[in-house]
Amino acid sequence: MVADPPKADPKGLVAVEATANGGLVLGSAPDRDETAKGCCRSRDQVRSCLRANLLVLLTVVAVVAGVALGLGVSVAGGAAARSPARLVAFGFPGELLLRLLKMIILPLVVCSLVGGAASLDPGSLGRLGAWALLFFLVTTLLASALGVGLALALKPGAGFTAINASVGTTDGVQNTGKKEVLDSFLDLVRNIFPSNLVSATFRSYATKYEERRLNTAMAQELNATMVQVPMESEVESMNILGLVVFAIIFGVALRKLGPEGELLIRFFNSFNDATMILVSWIMWYAPVGILFLVASKIVERENVGELFVNLGKYILCCLLGHAIHGLLVLPLIYFVFTRRNPYRFLWGIMTPLATAFGTSSSSATLPLMMKCVEEKNGVARHISRFILPIGATVNMDGAALFQCVAAVFIAQLNGLPLDLVKIITILVTATASSVGAAGIPAGGVLTLAIILEAVNLPVKDISFIFAVDWLVDRSCTIINVEGDAFGAGLLQSYVDRTKLQDPEPESTQVKSEVPLNPLPASMEEGNPLLKQYRGPAGDAVACEKESVM
Ligand code: ASP
Repeated sequence: MVADPPKADPKGLVAVEATANGGLVLGSAPDRDETAKGCCRSRDQVRSCLRANLLVLLTVVAVVAGVALGLGVSVAGGAAARSPARLVAFGFPGELLLRLLKMIILPLVVCSLVGGAASLDPGSLGRLGAWALLFFLVTTLLASALGVGLALALKPGAGFTAINASVGTTDGVQNTGKKEVLDSFLDLVRNIFPSNLVSATFRSYATKYEERRLNTAMAQELNATMVQVPMESEVESMNILGLVVFAIIFGVALRKLGPEGELLIRFFNSFNDATMILVSWIMWYAPVGILFLVASKIVERENVGELFVNLGKYILCCLLGHAIHGLLVLPLIYFVFTRRNPYRFLWGIMTPLATAFGTSSSSATLPLMMKCVEEKNGVARHISRFILPIGATVNMDGAALFQCVAAVFIAQLNGLPLDLVKIITILVTATASSVGAAGIPAGGVLTLAIILEAVNLPVKDISFIFAVDWLVDRSCTIINVEGDAFGAGLLQSYVDRTKLQDPEPESTQVKSEVPLNPLPASMEEGNPLLKQYRGPAGDAVACEKESVM
């Protein structure tokens, strides 16, 4: 019996209901039931959408709540809230998040890169690496150009009112001493080749100058009694660049070893997988940590308003530049090459972006970024785990952009004109020095000295940049990690198109803790010595050892 014409549901499907005798009746349900069902369906949809995006929502809410809490405590607590003991207690949940993320960086970077490099044949590795580096270089240059352009157009340094001496803290930059631009570049190269791998896990090389008395003959010849001598020295900061380079080369060597290296490759892959499970647990703590990181930073600042009045144009210039680069330039590049919606890609990495905002550290954001690009944006494991650690170490679009704005700002501040040669020098040195910047809070300000020295601008003025870096560094870190993620997305699309991943069929699927197809562990991804063959339906039907070069 057909009572009414069939009704289409919102998705265009025809309402179908089973009768008591098992027959199917089209559109026979009363309207009331239909409405109730529709409501239920949409409630279910909302619920499942909320569940799928719960972490993202919680993290975004945490950032907003952190700002509100910070402002509230600042206003209500006044100077008492800024006492060192209270600040430490207040920021403790945030400190815990940072400690957890930092704990994961070393095993994650080393294991993912060894496994990643070992899972790609040297040809693909070279091609992927070359494309990634080209993307990183081009986007960093674009960011630098945008920074210089905005600073020249908005002139943040013109009409600058000098603020009180409390702003002029130079913590962290005094040590640059007499360090030359050349020293900084040589240090970068030295760090690429660490002399001791164990000490590279917590120290980096940094040339230091010491004053030495000259002997009489030399003193007469040079007409001076003292001389500055470059000395070998190390600073307490993980040498990620050195570890990245070592891990890649070690992975390539393991692959070259053939079956003998298989055991160790499995070791690194399983270490990496276990680390990623830890990351997924840490992710649920991230919103709490971010909330307190942001709030405590705001409480810590005494003259937020005053800084805004005096350095507002500089802050505006940096934030505007970061917004243009992050919301227009990078998405546009991604869209042009992949024809996919870049904003959906951005939504997928919202949690790591909020973490970058909260922690001001690309390195600390790396674990969450890996998890999200793989699980939300469908980037294959061997691509994300190979590219993201490199990106987090060398690709810093946000840093290059703000360094350019800062250099032009300082030139304007001192009334020093910038000719074309100086502008090009700023562009090139900002791109290079952003490579040398560590993915830690204020990493970019420390290498800003290289640019200022290269164009003869007063290094002491970095103090102004330091005064607002707690804020600018946050948007800067977001852009730094966003650039890495888009790089991984672009490489995935390149691999999909060129079928570069032929021996790695699983690279096209979104990875999760639970393998989508129940392959034995030995046949899972990351074991380059085993090839999987799939039937027409994509199921694994056989596996055999791949002959190794
Ligand atoms: N904090 C930034 C990062 O970790 C580095 C910087 O200061 O530019 O990516």
